[in-house]
Parts: sequence; structure tokens; C-alpha cells
Amino acid sequence: MVASQLSVGVVGAGIGGLTAALCLLRAGFDVQLYEQATRLAEIGAGVQVSPNASRVLHRLGLAGPLAATGVKPLAWHQRRWDDGRTLLRAPLAEALEATFGFPHYQMHRADLLSALTAAVPAGRIHLGHRLVGLTDGDDGVRARFADGHQARFDVLVGADGIHSAVRQSLFGAEDARFTGCVAYRAVVPAERLRHLDLEVTAQLWLGPGRHFVHYFIRGRKLVNFVAVVEHDRWTRESWTDRGEIADALAAFAGWHPQVREIIGAADETFVWALFDRPPLPRWSAGRVTLLGDAGHAMLPFMAQGAAQAIEDGATLGACLRQVGDAAPASDVTAALRRYERARLPRTSRLQAMSAGNKTRFHLPDGPAQRQRDSQMAAGSEAWSFNALDWLYEHDAAQGPELG
Ligand code: FAD
Repeated sequence: MVASQLSVGVVGAGIGGLTAALCLLRAGFDVQLYEQATRLAEIGAGVQVSPNASRVLHRLGLAGPLAATGVKPLAWHQRRWDDGRTLLRAPLAEALEATFGFPHYQMHRADLLSALTAAVPAGRIHLGHRLVGLTDGDDGVRARFADGHQARFDVLVGADGIHSAVRQSLFGAEDARFTGCVAYRAVVPAERLRHLDLEVTAQLWLGPGRHFVHYFIRGRKLVNFVAVVEHDRWTRESWTDRGEIADALAAFAGWHPQVREIIGAADETFVWALFDRPPLPRWSAGRVTLLGDAGHAMLPFMAQGAAQAIEDGATLGACLRQVGDAAPASDVTAALRRYERARLPRTSRLQAMSAGNKTRFHLPDGPAQRQRDSQMAAGSEAWSFNALDWLYEHDAAQGPELG
């Protein structure tokens, strides 16, 4: 079918919005991307790009930039918080690439954003445009921005993150849920940690009420860490803030020296309160839909928030591609329904699995923890990558449900 020149407005130029814009441009649409920030920047932090997401990014022509800065970890190494004992060690990048055909990368978020941004043709990203309202009428969707600018589209995509204005205008205001966890995040120059002789693995340290993840990024020049701690409540006004290294060290008192040395080697850390939302029954209304955290914010404990936003873009592109030239509004609405039907069960499942990992990772030392550890040691299916075939083998641009 000939791709139509439908006009598509994408609100939010994060990982999800940028990927969606690229997929929609590939599908032949006239795409404009609106971002509230006046420049595209990311705080220092890492992101894991699993094969289900790298499949989409490679097809968008990003294999080169991803390989140039991404790190392919040898293994996924889970360890006990105090003595560092191995709980589970599973081959990662090579094994996943051999099985699923696409790599698993660990990257600096800024490197991923740069690769995506560089691929968007000039003039399509409009910075300093904060969406404040929209109307879905007979002549299309009208978007209004804080600076008074207005624009009309055949389709509008809300990729504006967990506090999405598009979501609010479709389904009403609803506060995101504080998950009872905060995360300290930082990157450390790898040379400062040379004495630890860190292997190129993703390491996940499990302990009572908290866990710690570290891996190399940016061609192994930096070590990224995320230190997650349970908290009863979150009182700060800001949801992301500079954190104190001393507070992070205090939260991990008594933990293995490797964990404490990595935290102590950071110059600065950011502390994030982790919020999520329950799955929505729908993402679309008329010619407007949601994508990424706007539709399915989840805890980062499956490392799938960005990966699912990337998948969303590929599926949305595939569904809209089937809409013909000068399509009536009903065709667009039906395509958005197909998109949401294809995506919702999968993202809802991952939202639930991510929330479940809070319990599994943070068990207090005792019978349940010992049972978990012996299941891991015995190679229990529940802790194996084989149990995640459905996640990594998924091709978001294909599937019977898209037809
Ligand atoms: P965002 O990245 O939030 O982007 C939304 C964009 O919209 C922003 O640029 C914002 O400025 C803009 N915007 C907002 N409102 C408006 C408006 N009104 N008008 C215009 N623009 C607007 N995911 C993984 O896949 N792997 C990982 O390893 C991983 N690790 C994580 C670790 C931590 C500690 C956390 C907190 C998250 C992690 N995630 C991970 C999740 C991932 O970061 C998010 O799911 C992902 O960034 C969501 O992308 P998005 O584009 O949907 O939203």
C-alpha cells in the first residue's frame, strides 16, 4: 500500500518520541516533533537496550552509532549484598545476539538520545514547545502550546512522559503512584575503579529493602550505577534532585566493599523518586494516542521502560502505514485501536513484572530469601533468560494483530 502523507504531531522528544518520529517518517508521514525543553539533554545515567529494542533501532539505521558507544556485557551477574556470593550468572550479550539476532547494549542515555536526534531530518524537532491543550475536531487535532503557537494534525501522539499532558487531556488528571523506592544514579570514570578489576558484566546486588546495579557504558569509559532504596514516603517537591553521596553510602552501610567503593568514587549523584501508574484500559481516543511512559510508566526493575517506548514507535508506524492516502478519520481511529490492542497486554505484563521484582529483589534475609537464592542456584526457569524469550524475540513491527 502507498504510504499516505498524513500529518502526525508527536509531543515529547524523549527516547519514545524520537523513535516514534523516526518510524513514522520511515512510513512516509509528515511528522513534526514538539519538546518543551529548550535543548535536548540527559542527566548522566545508563540505559539497557535489549534485543527487542535494538531490533527496532538497527532497522532505523542506528546500528553504527549504537555499536560505537554501547557496551555488550558478557553476563548478567546477580550477587548477594554482603559477601558478594554469586547467586546467578547468565551469559548475556553474545547469547542473546546469537538467539535473537540483535545485540543487548548498555549505553549512556545521552549517547542513545544523540543517535536518535541525529537521525531526525533538520527542521522537524521544535524545542521550547510545551503542549498545554488539544482539541480533536472535524478538521483534525489542534494542539496548543504555552507560547501561543497552534498546530493541526491528522494524528497526535502523546510521548510526553509519566506526567503526560496528553494523557491528562484524554483521560483526566490522576497522580502517578509513588512506588516506595528511590534511586541514586551516577556515572563514575572507569579509570577510578581500575583497582576493582571489574568484569564487563551487568551486576545486580540483592539485599534487604534495596538493590544495586552497575555496568559499563560509553565504550567502557564510564561505570553507571543505580542504587535503589525503599522509602516510606517522598516529601520533596522535586521528583528528581541532586543527592548526597554520603546519604547513598549510608543507605548501603554494611554492603560489600565493591558496592561501597563504586558509590564513593562518584563526584555527584542524582536521586530519583520512582513512580509508576496502573495499566490504562485504553491509550487512544479519536485521533490521539499515547506512547512510552505516557501510556505505561513502570518501575525500572525489568529495564524495559525505554525498550517498550521504542517498541511502541515501531508498532504505531506499522499500524498507521496501513492507512491509505486521504484516509477518513475512522480509518485513523481504527489504526490507533489496533496499535493499542497490540501493545497493551505486553506493556501491562511488564508493568506487573517490574513491580513484582521489587519484592523479589528486596527480600529480607530469612526463609523466603534462602528459597529464592536456592532457586537461582538451581537454575530455576523463573530466573532464567529462557523465561524471557517472549520478551526478546518480539518483532514490534510485525504480527497478526497489526493487520
Ligand atoms: P521521557 O523520557 O520522560 O520523555 C518525555 C519527553 O516529553 C521529555 O523530553 C519531556 O521534556 C517532554 N514533555 C513532557 N511534557 C511535555 C509537554 N507538555 N509538551 C512538550 N514536551 C513535553 N528503561 C529501559 O528500557 N532500560 C533501562 O535500563 C532503564 N533504566 C532505568 C533506570 C531508572 C532509574 C529509571 C528511572 C528509568 C529507567 N528506564 C529504563 C525507563 C526509561 O528511562 C523510561 O521508561 C523512558 O525514558 C521513557 O521514555 P519516554 O520517551 O516515554 O518518556
